[in-house]
Amino acid sequence: LSNKNNKEKNKVFNHKLKKTGGFFFEKIKNLFLKKSKIDIHLLDYIEEILLSADIGTKTTIKIINNLEKRVQKEKYRNSQVIFNFLKEEIENLFIDIENVCLETKIRNNKKKPYVILIVGVNGVGKTTTIGKLAFFLKKKGFHIVIGAADTFREAAIDQIKIWADQAGVPLIKQHMNSDPASVVYDTLQSAKSKEKDVVIIDTAGRLQNRINLMKELSKISKVINKITFSPPHEIILILDATTGQNAFEQVRKFSSFVKISSIILTKIEGTAKGGVLIGIMDQFKIPIQYLGVGEKIQDLKVFDGKKFVNCFF
Ligand code: GDP
Repeated sequence: LSNKNNKEKNKVFNHKLKKTGGFFFEKIKNLFLKKSKIDIHLLDYIEEILLSADIGTKTTIKIINNLEKRVQKEKYRNSQVIFNFLKEEIENLFIDIENVCLETKIRNNKKKPYVILIVGVNGVGKTTTIGKLAFFLKKKGFHIVIGAADTFREAAIDQIKIWADQAGVPLIKQHMNSDPASVVYDTLQSAKSKEKDVVIIDTAGRLQNRINLMKELSKISKVINKITFSPPHEIILILDATTGQNAFEQVRKFSSFVKISSIILTKIEGTAKGGVLIGIMDQFKIPIQYLGVGEKIQDLKVFDGKKFVNCFF
C-alpha cells in the first residue's frame, strides 16, 4: 500500500512540477513540434522563452551560444537533434556543482549536533520551510531541535512554534527582542545534553538592515564555535521562486557576507518563473537541495537536476 501511496505522491509532485517547468519546456517543445522545417529564427525563439522563464540573461546567453555552435554543425537539419542539444546544455549546467545530499552530510558528521543556519528575507517561506525540513529529517530518523533565533518579529516565534509542534520537534525559544545569540546558546546546550543529531536555527531576515544582520549572524557563529568548536556546518538560503530576478539579487547580497552552502527554493509549484533555479545554480554554483512545492508540512522535495530536466523533455 505504501508503495502505491508513494507512486501516487510522485505523480502529484510531477504534475505540480510540470506546471512549473511546463510553461517553458512546453513552449520549447511546441516550437519544435510546430515547425516541420527548423529555420534560422529558432534560436531567437528559444532565447525568448528562456528569458521569459527567468533563467537570467547570463545563463540564457551561455546556453544559446553553446547551442548555436552545435546547431551550425547540424545546419538546422534535424529538429530532434537540436532539441536534444538543448536538453544536454541545460543538464550540463547542473553537472559541475558539487552536491552532497544533506542527509549524507548529517550521517557523516562525527561530532553531534550538525548545525544548520537558515537565512532568507521575510516572506519567502522561511518559517514554513524550517517546519518542512524538520519534518523531513525527522522522518529520516534524525533527532532534531529548532532554535527560534528570529526574535525580531513576535509572529515569527509564534509561527515557528506551530510548525515545530506539527513536525513533532522541540523548539527552544525566548521572548521577542531577546538576544538571538542567547537563543542559539540555549538551543545548542539543549541539543548537546539530549544528544540531538541536528540543530536548525531560524535567523532574522532583515536584508534592508545589512549591518545589523551581519553583526547578528557573526555573533551567532561565534556562539556556535564556542560550544561546538566548529562554524555552522550548513548555511541554507531560502528563496521564493515567484520573485524571479529578485531571487538572484538575494543570493548576491547574502553571499557577500556569509558563505551559503545550499539553497531551498520555495513556491516552485505552478510558477512560470521556475527557470530561476537553472540560472541560480549556473551563476552562483550553489546547489539547490530542496524545492518547496506547497503549503503543507510534507511539501518539500529533494531536488535532482537530471530528474528535473528529464521530467519535461
Ligand atoms: P517567512 O516570512 O519567510 O517566514 O514566510 P512564511 O513561512 O511565513 O511563508 C509565507 C507564505 O508563503 C505563507 O503563506 C506560506 O504558506 C507560503 N509558502 C511557504 N512555502 C511555500 C511553498 O513551497 N509553496 C507555496 N505555494 N506557498 C508557500
